[in-house]
Amino acid sequence: MVDDSPRPADESPTREQLEAWDRELVWHAFTQMTEHQPFIIQRAEGCTLYDLEGRAYLDGVSSLWCNVHGHRHPTIDAAIRAQLDQVAHVTSLGMAHPTTIKLARRLVDLAPAGLGHVFFSDSGATAVEVALKMAFQFWQQCEQPQPKKTKYLAFENAYHGDTLGSVSVGGVPRFHEMFRPLLFEVLRLPSPTMYRLPTNVTRENACEYFLNLVAQVLEHQHAEIAAVIVEPLMQCAAGMILHPPGFLRGLRELTRQHDVLLIADEVAVGMGRTGRMFACQQEDVQPDLLCLAKGITGGYLPLAATLATDRIWQAFLGTYSSSRTFFHGHTYGGNPLGAAAALATLDVFEQEQTLANMPAKIARLQEYLARIALHPNVGDVRQLGLIAGIELVRDRVTQEPFPWGERRGQRVCNHALTRGVWLRPLGNVVVMMPPLNIKLEELDRICLAVEEGIEVATR
Ligand SMILES: *Cc1c(COP(=O)(O)O)cnc(C)c1O
Repeated sequence: MVDDSPRPADESPTREQLEAWDRELVWHAFTQMTEHQPFIIQRAEGCTLYDLEGRAYLDGVSSLWCNVHGHRHPTIDAAIRAQLDQVAHVTSLGMAHPTTIKLARRLVDLAPAGLGHVFFSDSGATAVEVALKMAFQFWQQCEQPQPKKTKYLAFENAYHGDTLGSVSVGGVPRFHEMFRPLLFEVLRLPSPTMYRLPTNVTRENACEYFLNLVAQVLEHQHAEIAAVIVEPLMQCAAGMILHPPGFLRGLRELTRQHDVLLIADEVAVGMGRTGRMFACQQEDVQPDLLCLAKGITGGYLPLAATLATDRIWQAFLGTYSSSRTFFHGHTYGGNPLGAAAALATLDVFEQEQTLANMPAKIARLQEYLARIALHPNVGDVRQLGLIAGIELVRDRVTQEPFPWGERRGQRVCNHALTRGVWLRPLGNVVVMMPPLNIKLEELDRICLAVEEGIEVATR
């Protein structure tokens, strides 16, 4: 039971009270509350988190993939403070604020060519909802309307957020199956993986194989497909499923050929994670719609953006009575505090040459992964820039997984915690996704903790 006896206002709760309230009052995301162990962070500095007792933990997963330049970055802190002295919030329903406008300008300048318009919202899921609805409405009212284009093509194990539209295009059975009766129907293709391939498919011909599957569906059904949605290069939440090189480029060519829109969900892989500002740039791809969130504010505040091409934008123009308006919005979309954090995040990329400093870190991570890959219980290691997934298996020859309930990934992370490194796994996949400004010496500590953790967890 929660202790609800009245407390004097000036008395701050004890650690025990905070932990009890955290267990009983706070319903945590993706957490079985029966087993929840409170882990309360008091403050952070750079890539280090400090708990209530002052114990330090390296943040090995960027506060769930969103922190970019470390915590308490002076430039971002100062930008938010300066914005507070102006105004904290201005609605985007018919009003604007200079900081938000400047952010739109910067994003359009940085994004792949052709994405000239920015719709702001507040999370990755909403950035995806916006893209899905824009794609749908586009075909209803573009110059030569194609009202039959109402479906989406998505990939197995996709993750696009937790609202019902984004869950509909999602495909992670463990998260999404329960809600199936509530979801709209989606055309689905196998995830373009390079591990556990079908017979006769090799890493060398995987790209061709998976693109062929796409080509067949688009040839037969393009007239009813509004858009293909993809996580460019890597499906992160699925367990860091790495796509074959060239797949994204091929997907862009096929969608263009069949006049189907391409939605790139870069919520996880955007904002520098892969070594380029946007993952699409790795394959020189220009999507029709680009979804950004997580790292866009450096991991400070909830802000998201959906970027659209001029072709899409044009289809929504007309008089009010033409009903071409995009009737969609989120109260805090384009919030100036978030926009200030986002602009400062982009400034830091320039000031600190963040992307230019990444190759050395990417190479160091690769060295560790090459060694880890030799372990008898490591089935596959997957790396994209500063993102890594290590898949633990019972048998690396047969690729037989460890039973889900044994929580081998969690056991690795539990061990890492005793070494002062905080990580969060995806089932049997150990994930590393440190802030981009991590120091080599800190990266070493994370990798060594993982290596040691794998030894301990597979005994
Ligand atoms: C995290 C994530 C989302 C959802 O973002 P939220 O801000 O949690 O709603 C969507 N797409 C991808 C690829 C993600 O990794």
